[in-house]
Amino acid sequence: MVVGRFAPSPTGPLHFGSLVAAVASYCDAKSQGGRWLLRIEDVDTTRRVAGASADMIRTLQHYGFVWDEKIVYQSERTEHYEQALAQLRHRGLAYPCTCSRKEIADSSTQLGIEGAIYPGTCLQHPIKPDTPAAWRLKTPAINIGFADRVVGWQQHAMARDIGDFVIKRADGLFSYQLAVVVDDALQGVTHVVRGADLLQSTTRQIYLQQCLGYATPAYAHIPLVLNDQGQKLSKQTLATALPLDNILATLVAAFNFLPYLPQPVPNFSNLPALWQWAMAHWQLGQLASD
Ligand code: GLU
Ligand code: ZN
Repeated sequence: MVVGRFAPSPTGPLHFGSLVAAVASYCDAKSQGGRWLLRIEDVDTTRRVAGASADMIRTLQHYGFVWDEKIVYQSERTEHYEQALAQLRHRGLAYPCTCSRKEIADSSTQLGIEGAIYPGTCLQHPIKPDTPAAWRLKTPAINIGFADRVVGWQQHAMARDIGDFVIKRADGLFSYQLAVVVDDALQGVTHVVRGADLLQSTTRQIYLQQCLGYATPAYAHIPLVLNDQGQKLSKQTLATALPLDNILATLVAAFNFLPYLPQPVPNFSNLPALWQWAMAHWQLGQLASD
């Protein structure tokens, strides 16, 4: 059984880029007779905006999305993340770190895909007393690769390109990487379809899955919607909230953006007919080289 999911962070209202990601994961799961889940990624409670999740849920309902299980909120799942961390610690794969950002920047000698590689200070020296510690996952000198259904083969040398990364922050919050891996596994997600901005995170997630004994889902990273300045639509770039009054036309625009449906989308006078057409025509996953 195919299980897909949409996992927005409630940092503001859904925008056109969120709609495109939701549509892609929904069509991918539903066109394969699968299930589709909605998960609110509010693990970072410091970025949570009051009312944003209720607003997102209402918007998705307006656009005709139907999820197959009770909505999952990451803010309620700390015990699952604690269990995963305990398992990693037990296996000697995670260690505490009391370095500040500045100390890392000053002592790192290598650059990875996201800046300074953590130099392993706290692995070699005692951690600072009375200092809140983050938890890092050790990255071995191995390659992790995967065949993305959209962009093809991707790989990273874990130690060289990524380095020991944070799975629980010093302020006590679990990282996105750990939470998403635990949730995708516990929810039985088989097909992850999401924006290309998360492509670089995937090898970390696959490595975590291997450490925790989880299966690896299939991944598809879809093109990002950019604004006129070439920036990803987001709260930071002041993307406008999805309208609630022009739903058919907005959904058609999302369908037209995605290269997995015939273009142009025919005219429909109601939402169910439009969705039905999309499910019947959706095609994602045949890489050109297949
Ligand atoms: N919560 C993430 C975001 O809003 C998406 C996570 C995912 O799809 O893996 O960007
Ligand atoms: Zn450290």
